[in-house]
Order: sequence, then C-alpha cells, then structure tokens
Amino acid sequence: MKTKDDTMTSRRQFVSGVTAGLAAALTTPALAQQGAAASSSRADTPGRRGQSSKQDPTTQYRRPPFPPQQQDPPGLAGKMDPRPDHGETSYRGSGKLVGRKALVTGGDSGIGRAAVIAFAREGADVAINYLPVEEPDAREVVELVRAEGRKAVAIPGDIRDERFCVKLVADAVRELGGLDILVNNAATQVAQHSIEELTTEQFDSTFKTNVYAMFWITKAAMPHLEPGSAIINTSSVQAYDPSPGLLDYAQTKACMVIFTKSLAKQVARRGIRVNAVAPGPFWTPLQPTGGQPAEKLIDFGEHTPMGRPGQPAELGALYVYLASQDASYATGQVYGASGGEGNP
Ligand code: NAD
Ligand code: MG
Repeated sequence: MKTKDDTMTSRRQFVSGVTAGLAAALTTPALAQQGAAASSSRADTPGRRGQSSKQDPTTQYRRPPFPPQQQDPPGLAGKMDPRPDHGETSYRGSGKLVGRKALVTGGDSGIGRAAVIAFAREGADVAINYLPVEEPDAREVVELVRAEGRKAVAIPGDIRDERFCVKLVADAVRELGGLDILVNNAATQVAQHSIEELTTEQFDSTFKTNVYAMFWITKAAMPHLEPGSAIINTSSVQAYDPSPGLLDYAQTKACMVIFTKSLAKQVARRGIRVNAVAPGPFWTPLQPTGGQPAEKLIDFGEHTPMGRPGQPAELGALYVYLASQDASYATGQVYGASGGEGNP
C-alpha cells in the first residue's frame, strides 16, 4: 500500500505519461485478448461477435479452466490472462447520459472500468478513483474516455481515509463542474479459510474500504446531487449466499444492500435514486489477488449455471440503465447478475 506522497508522485507521472499511454491503451486489452483467443478454439473466443449480437452466452466468453496466476493486491487487469473484457471494443452508446458527470471508485479496472467506458460512450464525463499502484490500468481508462471526446479526471488515493474521501468528492465536483452519478464500486476481498485466520487488521480494512468509504463518499456527494441524480453501489451475490472463506467481505456486501435500501427511502423525495448491483463471479483483478484461494481460480465461475465467470463488459449496460432516466422508477433495488445462481 502506498502513501499520499506516492499519490502525488503518481499524479505527476500520470499527467506526463498520458500521451505515451494513448497508443498502448487503444491497442491493448480487449483487442489483444480477442486476437489471442481467435487463434484458439471458437468457444474460447471472448466477445468474438461483439456484446450486442445474438449468440450463445455460455460460449460467448472463455470458460474455465483458467491458467494459474496470482498478483499482489490490488492487481492489474493488464496482467491477467486472459485479459478481462471491459467493453473496450464492444460497447456502443446511444446518448443516454449526455452531459452527465460521474464519479466511479475502482474505475481503473474490472466492473468499475466497464461502467466508466459505458458512461463515456453514453456521453458522460467521468472521474475515477483508484490506488496509486494501479496507474497503468487507470491510464488506459482515461485514454478510452478521452477517445470518446469526454472529460476524464484521475484521482488516485486510498479511500480507507475519511479525509481523502471528502477531498475525492470535492476534487471530482470541481474538475467535472458538478456531479450527477456516483458509483461506489471499490472493494477489497481477501479469502481466509477460518475465522481464526481472519485478523482484526483485515476485518477493519475490509469494512473501511467496502462500507465506511461508501458512507464517507456518499455523504460528501449528497450536497452536490440534484434531482435526477443516481447512486449505484456494487454489492455482491455474497450478500445473500456467502462463501465460507469470505466472512468479512460477505458481511460488507450485505451492509451495502441495506445501506442502499435505507438511503433510497431517505432521499427519494429529493429525486435521488439509490440502487445496487449484486454480481456473481466476474473475471477481474479482485480474484487473482487473494479474492479466491489460488487453486479455486482455475475453475472460477464453473459452478454457475452459465458455466463460466462473467466479463465486466456484461455489466456496463446495467450501470448505464441505473444511472439514466430509463430507470426513473427504480430505487432501493438490487439487481442480480450472477450467471444463474444466488439471489436476489
Ligand atoms: P477490481 O479489482 O477491478 O476493482 C476493485 C477496485 O477497488 C480496484 O481496482 C481498486 O482501485 C479499488 N480499491 C481497493 N482498495 C482500495 C482502497 N483502499 N482505496 C481506493 N481504491 C481501492 O475488481 P472488481 O471485481 O471489478 O470489483 C469491483 C466491485 O465488484 C467490488 O465492489 C467487488 O466487491 C464487486 N464484486 C466483484 C465480483 C467479482 O467476482 N469480481 C463479484 C461480486 C461483486
Ligand atoms: Mg484495479
């Protein structure tokens, strides 16, 4: 974990590195993945025919087994094999969020990145938060947003710190010129076999990242949210059907469901909607960085009726829906996206 000083350095490096990152960002993740997969079997071809064309969802993306792999947390999407598909080459917008301003935590990779790409292609300007060590992933996202002609604001820092959370919102509001969409998506997940192995330090860190930060960031954002604004919290199937090794994480995801439902009731009369997404297994850096025991990663997602994990690209449209006026009567709801297992 890096310090605030690293954050400052990182920002300077980031700004100077933007131009160099452009070419790489536009030619890397999904394209490289698709190209590699196209030379293997057809069933292994991720998103081969694009996210929008009719096809068998069970073979649309790669199925287990996956190559053994581990990274130190928080990990990089760019180092995963296969590389996740965040919709880089597939998401097509239709003007659903023109002129909106969004803040997405954990927007550098995984589900957050898919939401950011989709938001930008729907016409929104986007600020992303991530940890300083995730700068390579963040740079790719910033370039993808700018390639759409939208404003991208990169605000690295550790959301376990309340003061940083307050500053994050203030910086995002200042840079974007307001805020209409808040996505509380960042999280930590570290599997432990038994409660005896779960340290107070980990328990505290999981709750700070997944629950306290959501509270701090949302509280700071509220004064800026006008009627028509939307808050989306990324919960999990773990809130309803917890794995034995995710005792702390599953509790935080359950907290997020009730935070969502309670806040939705509190702010409905202000015209602000609050909803949650509860994904099942998705192929993101959260998993090869301790989120799963290493041996379980190989068969990740196999147990679902779909027989494979989801790819972040398969959630982009759901975040757009919840952020947009299309979902004008949806608040306090939890949207499952778990390949056929679990609840709600
Ligand atoms: P991810 O690793 O791509 O995203 C998690 C992000 O959290 C990281 O990119 C990082 O930027 C951020 N983060 C972690 N600790 C932080 C800290 N202290 N300060 C600032 N940022 C921090 O993985 P993902 O799977 O896309 O995760 C996104 C959300 O999806 C999480 O809320 C996760 O709980 C949820 N989710 C994931 C799955 C899955 O199988 N991948 C399933 C259900 C729910
Ligand atoms: Mg990341």
